[in-house]
Amino acid sequence: MHYLGVDVGSVSTNIVVIDDDLNLIDKLYLRTKGRPIKVIQEGFKILNEKYSNSIIRGVGTTGSGRVLASFLVGADVVKNEITAHAMAAVSMNKQVRTVIEIGGQDSKIIIIKNGIATDFAMNTVCAAGTGSFLDRQAERLEIPIEEFGNYALKSSAPVRIAGRCAVFAESDMIHKQQLGYDPSDIICGLCHAMVRNYLNNVAKGKEILPNIFFQGGVAANVGIKKAFEKELGYEVMVPKYYDVMGAVGAAILAKKAVSKENIRTKFKGFVLADGFIKTKSFECDMCSNKCEVATLYDEEKVIGCFGDKCGRWNTEEVKINIMPRKHADISIRA
Ligand code: SF4
Repeated sequence: MHYLGVDVGSVSTNIVVIDDDLNLIDKLYLRTKGRPIKVIQEGFKILNEKYSNSIIRGVGTTGSGRVLASFLVGADVVKNEITAHAMAAVSMNKQVRTVIEIGGQDSKIIIIKNGIATDFAMNTVCAAGTGSFLDRQAERLEIPIEEFGNYALKSSAPVRIAGRCAVFAESDMIHKQQLGYDPSDIICGLCHAMVRNYLNNVAKGKEILPNIFFQGGVAANVGIKKAFEKELGYEVMVPKYYDVMGAVGAAILAKKAVSKENIRTKFKGFVLADGFIKTKSFECDMCSNKCEVATLYDEEKVIGCFGDKCGRWNTEEVKINIMPRKHADISIRA
C-alpha cells in the first residue's frame, strides 16, 4: 500500500509516494508558478501513469497551499510545515534536535525535544536568507546555481558581505565585484552572510543543538552547509530527500492517522476534476511585499488563500467574514 504527501509552497509543489515501511518510492518537485491547482493536476497525471493500480491508503497535505490541496485531492490529514518537516526529520533520525529549513521564499528553525517539535520560528519577509535570493545572485554572477556551493568551497579568503537584508547584501556584492575580488571569495562570503542573517534573525534566541538537519532546496548548496558548520561548530546533516521533506512528513502523518483509527482514506483518485475551484486574486498592500493573494472558492464558500507570505489572509475569521466581501475584479481559473 502507498501513502501520498503533497506540499504546496509558493515556489515549489512537491509530491511524494511512500510505502508501508516509510520508504520513499517516488517524488516530484514541480514549480508552482502561482498556479497551484494546475501544478497538482499535472503532478497527479504523472503519478496516475505509474500508480493507477496501486492502493493509496492515505494522503496528507502541507505547505501554504495545504487547504487547497486537501480540498482538491481529498486529504486525510492537513498539517502545517513545521509539523510536517519535524515528522520527516525525526522519522529519519531519532536524535534530531534542530531542523534548519531554507526554501525558495522562506526559512524556518524547528527545535525538537524527544522527537516532538517544541519551538519554532519562521521568516517569510526578509529575502536575504532564501533560495530565490541565491538564485538571483547566481544569475547575476553568471554562475549556474548548482555550481554555487562548489565555488564557495574553492575560496581561500572569503570576503565579508553585509547580510542584514537583500538590498544591502546585493549592493555589497556588486561593490566587492567592482573591487576585483575573486568570485569564489565573494560567493563564500555570501554563504556566510546568509548564515549570519539566519542565525541573527530566524534562529535568534534559540538553542541550536546537534543532531542538526538541514532541509529545503538551499540544503543542496554545500557552501551554505559548510558556513553553518563553521558558525555553529557542529556537523550539519543534509538528509537524502532534503528537498521534499515537507511532503515526506505529510505522507507519514497520513499513514499514522489512517492506521491509528483504521479509517478509510478520503483520497479522490489521481484524476482530478477540472475547474470546479474558482480563484479570485488581489494585491495585498499591507506591507512592502505586495503579495498577489489568490482566494479559492468552492461555489460561494472561501476554502483558502494562496500567495500571502505572512499567512495574514488564511485565518478562519478572514475566510468567513472578510474574503467574501473582498472580491477583486480579476477572476481567473487555475
Ligand atoms: S500578505 Fe500582505 S501583509 Fe502579508 S506579507 Fe504579503 S503584502 Fe505583507
